[in-house]
Amino acid sequence: MCRKPLANCYGPDSDAPTGVRTLPAVSDGARERIGIFGGTFDPPHMGHLVIALEVGHALSLDRVLLVVAGDPWQKSAHRSITPAVDRLVMVEAAVGGAAGVEVSDIEVQRGGPSYLADTLADLAAAGPGDELFVIVGSDAAQGLDTWEHPDDVRDRATTVVVERGGREGGRPPAGWPYLVVDVPALDVSSSDLRRRVAAGEPIRGLVPKMVADIIEAQDLYAKGKT
Ligand code: ATP
Repeated sequence: MCRKPLANCYGPDSDAPTGVRTLPAVSDGARERIGIFGGTFDPPHMGHLVIALEVGHALSLDRVLLVVAGDPWQKSAHRSITPAVDRLVMVEAAVGGAAGVEVSDIEVQRGGPSYLADTLADLAAAGPGDELFVIVGSDAAQGLDTWEHPDDVRDRATTVVVERGGREGGRPPAGWPYLVVDVPALDVSSSDLRRRVAAGEPIRGLVPKMVADIIEAQDLYAKGKT
């Protein structure tokens, strides 16, 4: 059950402050409650971190995995993506040992296009009985049916939507069960950060310090490189 004030965790079809699914209050020790927050993280930013921490707390998750896409196929068709190894290093730096948040390279190791359905299958095989929660921003939520094997994504995990500024109200396709967790809205995106770096504008404060340091040291996102 949601740990936050009930009004902050609610189901899709009712204003009533009750979850649409009956969730165990805490892990029973054998089964874990695992959040899967996938992204390109190019670069990771404070919005990502806040979401992982807030959803983990609100839903009493044992851990939230920041799953770095090896080949974010819906994006790599349109722009060049920073090598996965660099994005993994930045995400590790961003997490910086935050309790309950971990970095996963499962999609990088698997190779090929990064399909969440495959990741959920791998996690289910590794931890039978674990309860999986897929965390998506409201912008991504409305496109879930464009993902590979969307039925598997829907059926293998509870979908958790967080609002994204400017894309509020985006929800999964009709008939797709989900929860909404309120998180503090941070108007930050990786694409704006890349633009800022290329334009010579500041990014400190929008990304963890270690991430800003890496971007500077590696000269990532400089003009002409994105
Ligand atoms: P880009 O701007 O390059 O598209 P992004 O900022 O959306 O990148 P991703 O790594 O692609 O970052 O996002 C991973 C997930 O995080 C997606 O589900 C996205 O909706 C969500 N997300 C990212 N930033 C925010 C934010 N500020 N508020 C809410 N959700 C966010």
